[in-house]
Amino acid sequence: MKPLPPGSKIVIASHNPGKVREIGDLLRPLGLEVVSAGELGLPEPEETGKTFEENAIIKARAAAEGARLPALADDSGLCVDALGGAPGIYSARWGGPEKDFYKAMEKVEEGLREKGATTPEQRKAHFVCALALAWPDGNVETFRGEVHGHLVWPPRGEKGFGYDPIFVPKGHDITFAEMEPEKKHAMSHRARAFEKLLAALRAAREES
Ligand code: IMP
Repeated sequence: MKPLPPGSKIVIASHNPGKVREIGDLLRPLGLEVVSAGELGLPEPEETGKTFEENAIIKARAAAEGARLPALADDSGLCVDALGGAPGIYSARWGGPEKDFYKAMEKVEEGLREKGATTPEQRKAHFVCALALAWPDGNVETFRGEVHGHLVWPPRGEKGFGYDPIFVPKGHDITFAEMEPEKKHAMSHRARAFEKLLAALRAAREES
């Protein structure tokens, strides 16, 4: 992988200021200069991929080509085993235009009920985060993080976002929404994908 030396500019391929801030924090140890696709006025591409990686690549490539700079994008979601991996790459869309995740969680629960899934084993699910780092020359690298667990009903906890109130990570008995954010952030799919990205960037610096 090509190194990104300290001080080099990188585009975060997102128009969501919360996500840009969080990714900026995670990249801080590398001393990169972070700008966002939103700040640069880059258009948002359509996410037409069939996998998390494909969607992350579409977003990272569009930003890298638009800004002529290396760009980082993420794509994430919840995959429920009994639902054949749904909502998967459609996790955000299940919240509808109002981003109503209570409704999205209810839809998941209805699906599980239809399947008669009652035990933790039958209600297994995992969050996925795919990161894509693209260069303006078309080069791209991807990194995947996952956290496995099971789904509970009714939703529990006020912290977190999205599907956090129904997800209990393996080895724990509280949901992501009941967990202190630092604890969730240390074990999440996003944390695991970023650990891999940071390790690869550090290794590329050492090799150069
Ligand atoms: P993205 O921003 O297009 O990647 O959408 C990801 C969607 O997946 C979000 O809108 C959430 O509904 C869901 N999601 C991803 N990560 C998490 C998480 O850590 N907790 C809860 N929901 C998540």
